[in-house]
Amino acid sequence: MHAIGIDIGGTKIAGAVVSESGEIIAERRVATEAGDSGAIVDAVVEMVQSLSVGQTIVAAGVAAPGFIDSAQSTVYYTPNIAWRNEPLRDRLTERLGIDVTIDNDANAAGWAEYRFGIGRGVHDMTMLTIGTGVGGAIVSDGRLFRGGFGAGGELGHMRLVPDGLPCGCGARGCIEQYGSGRALLRFAGEIADAGGVGLALAEARREHGTLDGSSVGSLIAAGDPGARLALEQLGHYLGQACASLSAILDPELFVFGGGVAIAGDLLLDPVREAYRQHLPARGYHPEPRFAIAELVNDAGVVGAADLARLHSRAR
Ligand SMILES: [Zn+2]
Repeated sequence: MHAIGIDIGGTKIAGAVVSESGEIIAERRVATEAGDSGAIVDAVVEMVQSLSVGQTIVAAGVAAPGFIDSAQSTVYYTPNIAWRNEPLRDRLTERLGIDVTIDNDANAAGWAEYRFGIGRGVHDMTMLTIGTGVGGAIVSDGRLFRGGFGAGGELGHMRLVPDGLPCGCGARGCIEQYGSGRALLRFAGEIADAGGVGLALAEARREHGTLDGSSVGSLIAAGDPGARLALEQLGHYLGQACASLSAILDPELFVFGGGVAIAGDLLLDPVREAYRQHLPARGYHPEPRFAIAELVNDAGVVGAADLARLHSRAR
């Protein structure tokens, strides 16, 4: 039976009809009106209705950024959309007349990788999504870990640096401040300021007025030593975070997704190096695999659809 997955992002809403084997049968995209939560609900309803035409749909899953309750029905808080204790599932179920479940977007992406991507055949997997911020997903013994209230697995807000930089969540020193795309740009800016290997970065900054993801990304791809150093610094922080996560979760596989993960081994090599340096009881702990996500842009919709299908079966 097919299910529909909807992924609400900061700039676009993506939706797809997804088969039981994770295959995308049909898809649609519209721009997000981030300030208008009512318009987002309308857009989701319209998208589910248009994707359902001519299909037998068993359930719909919606992936959204933020904290979702363990019943997968209420959005406690979401950063860019004005949802606070929003009963999103009831609102959508009422209007659509089918089973709807809500999940955190990083959880949906992690679940998709576990079921249909790089995590196939693994039982314990931890995923970090490195975009503008840092998302997290934990699969433990074949189940998505949500915690007691549904807000578990928010790895981006685990403290990495005591008394470190303030984070948008209100705490300090979160992984998000040292292991995100935004952190990469900050490291690149510091390297540009220092001169030396930062010459090309400083020049790109002069040319564009600021350092953005695409100019730092192309310098990394071109082998520029300053841009590569910024990526290495990011990888070292992420490797330390993975060492701490291993002490708690002991996953067989760490998966890296999001825009920065395009760097592949250039990111994973410093991650592995820092992981080995910071792992408790190092030398006596079997080493997990470190890998890049496979599903990239489709992970959110595929994971949301599959979670909704499982949830409706369990009911
Ligand atoms: Zn934080």
